[in-house]
This record gives sequence, C-alpha cells and structure tokens, in this order.
Amino acid sequence: MDTIVAISVVSATEEKADKAIEAAFSRIDALDKTLNFFSDTSELSRINAQAGSAPVAVSPETVEVIAKAIDTSAKTEGAFDVTIGPEIALWDFVSKRMPEDRTVKERLPLVDYRNMRIDKERSTVFLTKKGMRADLGAIAKGYAADKAVGELKRQGIRAGLVAVAGDIRAFGLKPDGSGWKVGIRNPRTGGKDDEILATVELRDMAVSTSGDYERYFMKDGIRYHHILDPKTGYPATGCRSVTVLAKEGVDTDSFSTGTFVLGPEKGMKVLEGMGFEGMILDKDGRVFTTPGLKGKIEFKGQH
Ligand code: AMP
Ligand code: MG
Repeated sequence: MDTIVAISVVSATEEKADKAIEAAFSRIDALDKTLNFFSDTSELSRINAQAGSAPVAVSPETVEVIAKAIDTSAKTEGAFDVTIGPEIALWDFVSKRMPEDRTVKERLPLVDYRNMRIDKERSTVFLTKKGMRADLGAIAKGYAADKAVGELKRQGIRAGLVAVAGDIRAFGLKPDGSGWKVGIRNPRTGGKDDEILATVELRDMAVSTSGDYERYFMKDGIRYHHILDPKTGYPATGCRSVTVLAKEGVDTDSFSTGTFVLGPEKGMKVLEGMGFEGMILDKDGRVFTTPGLKGKIEFKGQH
C-alpha cells in the first residue's frame, strides 16, 4: 500500500504470533494487489480504464469497499468523494507541481460519486463518464487494517493492533489489562519530527488521522496538501488534522478525510450524527472534541 504496516499481537508463543502476523501481512498484500491505484493490473485500474465504456467484473471484496466508499461519500455530502481521482492526478506533492487552474475547473464535472455504480449481484463496478477515476486512497488502508485484524482473530489471536500508516485498528487488551495506546501527531512541530500531541487508548476500536502535514508543499506561504475539496479541486482549508475513532477502520479512514474537508462546524455535526468520536484541529490550531472522547484522550502539551 505504499506505506509502513506494523502489526503487534499478544500470544502465548512466538511461533503462533509469527504465523498469525504472516497471515495478516499476506491478507494486506492481496488487498494491495486488487486495490492499488498505480498498478495497471489491479481491479481498481481496470475499473478506471473502462470509465464511460462498460461495467467491470471484480471480486466481491472490491465491490464491498467501493460500496462503503460511496456510502461515506453520501453521508459526508460529497466532502469525501471516491471519484476524486481526476483532480488528485493533477497534483504532485513531491516535485511541488501546481496544476493549471483551468484544468482543475475543467475536470470538476468528472468528480461525482453518484456516477459510480455498483451491481452487487453481478459483482460489477461502473464509472459512467469517460475520464472518471476512482481513488481509494482515503479508505483502503483502514479497510486493510480491518481485514488484517479479521485474519489475526481467525488465527486464534485474542488481542492485537494493526497500523497501516495512520489507520489503526486494535482489539482485545494487553496482558496488563490496559487498552492499546496510540499517539496523535502534532501537525505543527516547528521543524521537529514526530511530536505527539495527545494519546488515545483503544479498546476494540479503530482510529485514523488525516492531516495537512502528511503530503504537502509550501508555495508563497500557502500550504498545498493532499486532501482536496471535491467542490473546488483545491486542498481543503478548514483544518490541520482530524482524528476519528469508531469500531471499524473503513469508517475512521474515510470519515477522517471527509470531516477534514467539511471543516470544524459541519465536521463535528457529521461525526456526532454517526455516533463516532473525534478531534478536529482547525486551521487556527483550535481543538474541537466530541463529548465522548473525554476520558479516552490525554493531551501531552502545547498544540
Ligand atoms: P487520508 O490520508 O486518509 O486523508 O487520504 C488522503 C488521500 O485520499 C489522498 O492522497 C487522495 O488519494 C485521496 N483523497 C484526497 N481528497 C479526497 C477526498 N475529498 N475524498 C476522497 N479521497 C480523497
Ligand atoms: Mg482517511
């Protein structure tokens, strides 16, 4: 998935732990092969290649994750939009390439999740307009963490943690009876690396953070980052980071991105409506938390 995956398990023997972890990694590898945006042979690439032409037969799992992505798109009123692909393709955060404003605007009509259709019975996915492209970059990692946890459980593991970059799912308790502590990064460290802003303790929960510090470049004092507002095609401006806690990684991953785009006011409403917990750091560094997060989160210092 073009990122770092870390898996921890509690187990009586190292042998059982190794076997389970290996199975979980294979599970993630298999998903990577079907959902990878960059490989020409992935199911996702075949769906994109047939945009405007024909529905593509894919595995039930691909249908499942895309159904979930369409659902989150609807629940965030398109702030998360699984068809953001044509706009994302215009940005290069490594070589600091800014797209032409004209091209950004031309492509906006191609971004609309309502033009992505799934047929569960036939197990097909169809992008109805030529030039459309699905992008699972804001949901596939959380989904992979869920599936890896499922595999660990199948292997008889009762407690563990799977972190696919910033999309983390934990289950069971550590031997001392505590939950799994996960750090939330400070989005503005003033030059220092990885500083922890707060920690949350997970008990059978997932957590994801979306931030404007992950992939970005600065130009004329403006930060251009990888979370785009589907309405404008430009980076969303309301937040610095959004952390979401829920039962499943597929939800925390996609809703952290969607909430980031919605901004603090609308974003908090959507999280509360879904029954999720979360923390939003807005563009000025103000902190918003859902009521239920108190007691689960511990702040480390300044932000
Ligand atoms: P995340 O780090 O989970 O917030 O996901 C960011 C990635 O999701 C980006 O690198 C894009 O591939 C994709 N993306 C960016 N903006 C959006 C959006 N508004 N809706 C859905 N996916 C997006
Ligand atoms: Mg996400």
